[in-house]
Amino acid sequence: MKKRKSLLKKTLLSCLMACSLSSALAEGINIIPQPVRLEQQAGSFRLTSSAVIGYQAGLKEHAEYLQQVLSQSTGWDFRLVEGKNQGDIRLALSPDKAQGKAEGYQLDVKPGRIVLYGTDKGGVFYGIQTLLQLFPAEIYSSQRQKGVDWTAPAVSVFDAPERPWRGMMLDVARYFFDKEFVKKYIDMMAMYKLNKLQFHLIDDSGWRLEIKKYPRLTEIGAWAGPDTHRLGGYYTQEDIKELIAYGQLRNVEIIPEIEFPAHMLSAVAAYPWLSCTGLQHEVPVQHFISRDLLCVGKESSYQFLSDVLDETVSLFPSHYINIGGDEAVYDRWKECPKCQEVMKREGLTKASDLQGYLTNVVADMMKKKDRTVVGWEEIIQRGKVNHPVVALMWHNVGDTIQATKTGHKAILTPATHMYLDFPESGTPGEIKAAGWMPPISVEKCYSMEVNDYSPESTVLGVQGCFWSDQFIHGTVLQELPLLNENRSENYAEYLTFPRLLAVSEVAWSKMSRRDYKDFSNRLSHHYARLDYKGCNYRVPEPQIVSMKEQADGKLEFTLAPSVAGAEIVYTTDGRYPNIHSPRYTGPVTVDNKSDFHAMTLVTDRHYSLPIYFAPDYSAYKQYGTFTAEWKPLQIQTVMTPWRFECTGKISGNGTYEVTFIRTKGQNNLKLGTLQLLKREEKLAEVVQSGTASEAAPAVTYRFKVDAFEAGTPFFVEVQACGEGGNETSGLVFIKKVED
Ligand SMILES: [Zn+2]
Repeated sequence: MKKRKSLLKKTLLSCLMACSLSSALAEGINIIPQPVRLEQQAGSFRLTSSAVIGYQAGLKEHAEYLQQVLSQSTGWDFRLVEGKNQGDIRLALSPDKAQGKAEGYQLDVKPGRIVLYGTDKGGVFYGIQTLLQLFPAEIYSSQRQKGVDWTAPAVSVFDAPERPWRGMMLDVARYFFDKEFVKKYIDMMAMYKLNKLQFHLIDDSGWRLEIKKYPRLTEIGAWAGPDTHRLGGYYTQEDIKELIAYGQLRNVEIIPEIEFPAHMLSAVAAYPWLSCTGLQHEVPVQHFISRDLLCVGKESSYQFLSDVLDETVSLFPSHYINIGGDEAVYDRWKECPKCQEVMKREGLTKASDLQGYLTNVVADMMKKKDRTVVGWEEIIQRGKVNHPVVALMWHNVGDTIQATKTGHKAILTPATHMYLDFPESGTPGEIKAAGWMPPISVEKCYSMEVNDYSPESTVLGVQGCFWSDQFIHGTVLQELPLLNENRSENYAEYLTFPRLLAVSEVAWSKMSRRDYKDFSNRLSHHYARLDYKGCNYRVPEPQIVSMKEQADGKLEFTLAPSVAGAEIVYTTDGRYPNIHSPRYTGPVTVDNKSDFHAMTLVTDRHYSLPIYFAPDYSAYKQYGTFTAEWKPLQIQTVMTPWRFECTGKISGNGTYEVTFIRTKGQNNLKLGTLQLLKREEKLAEVVQSGTASEAAPAVTYRFKVDAFEAGTPFFVEVQACGEGGNETSGLVFIKKVED
């Protein structure tokens, strides 16, 4: 932070020498999400210590919110006055403005006055967010910032969201984020006009919601590990009320997710009678997906759900109640005589139909309380559900039309674009995160396709998801060195930002208005805002403007900063740059692409990974996807098991081939029995032997997968050794050959 400030000061100083524009004007207008219409006018509004905030009756909380944000950064006490046409900054409700669209607003910033009309309170709040984005980035600071020219360019903005559902899911079950962090997350969502927080309160690893009728849910289910080193936590009902109020002002509806019939081992640990077997379990310390399900054959299970949902509904005013419903494996129900009785009684043919049966029972309960059920897509894919529900489509967006034909609605949250627990890149050194799908860059997230919305649309909107199973109970599998304080919170922010800004624009704007280049340019000005907000983020690599081949065969790189005001450092000798490497000032020429590395330097403690060119494996295309490589140091000279991860390369049930290809070295690689593992569970075994030699470099194994599970890590373990020495290198590819 300190360094960043001095960097900004330096920029500001040089700017003051060259020009006399305020930093906001110098930077231009960079609103995210892009407003429907914005017209810049002559002049600007200058905020002074005597400015008065006027508000229409009913908007006092909004006026106080604005007063607080402006006061803490400017250090001035702004006076509030109630009245529709009062003050220098005026907040009012006018349902006709913004064409009467919900959450819409009209904002007029003129040299002498700011007038903001919202169609509703949400619109007023969003108008305030747009206004804050017009002021210099320092406006977000919680500390007084001196020497800032507090001006906002004169504009006329007309704006309203395209879609009613603009969500984020936060997984507080695998890792317990405290109340203050949840508030910060809500605040960041609100800054970018996201309006639904799916609060993932329950999973195998923890029950986070106080339920008065079942105290053991939080006495037992919220904690893992031995008493001396308990991990976990939960929200009291008072905490929840505080969070709901915090969200309400910020137009964020908190939707509780009460997950069943799977992902609820924490409840089973507290009350073993909830499961089919009734066996005692412990809350797991490590990431674990339990096969124990809520028994649908016991009356006590329905009583439990009814009681828990009663308390949930009386606590949460949200129109929606999320019932989870994902990833149930039905073995327990198949083996349970009580569950089998229900199948017989209801005339169901498959164990999975029991989930549809259960969803109907709960949808009935919720209907009586005038609430709508939301859940993962499985809730509408396991038999007919009688009441309209909302399904979160997390696999294949293409299924949406089929799924919603029966009167249901959908929210698009495909793991391929919207799961922010995947890393942004495959660059060596990237943070360890979910790996069962390829990385999701900001551009990929931004490219998510979604149809324009109309009241008849079956798709209500878009949602990003942040799962925390990669650092369950604070144990990050691998961390960047700079994430050592509050590491889980920093880690969550690193993965969420800047991609949340892409989610925001995908959800807010019409698809036809999206333009990645323009977005990326606006985004470059938001990192300073995140810094002043105290929010960690992944620093983007510099942009490559051009990579031109010269007459002599050398390559000339021209770069541009992807963070406004940040420096770029580079190297031309193949090594990664550091903070002392040369500063980029103009085009750089290198012999080979792989010799060139450059990174964005925001401060000397906050910088990007280098620009990275993944090796070209196109010559091996017929063998499938690059999965692993071997090098002399990791190869033994006696047969030893060699294990490597192949998550993401195993993408569903089917037949696969793994091919080992020797590429260099004087020794051959001898190979023996190969196993495919899902975590530690053996899914396939191929007993064969072969040698990857200079004459016959490729050795292929073939196996079948019939127990694929999304979200779980897969590994190949093969017996291997160097023949007569370990001077051998090569590549491993995996290919799906049959569905
Ligand atoms: Zn059962």
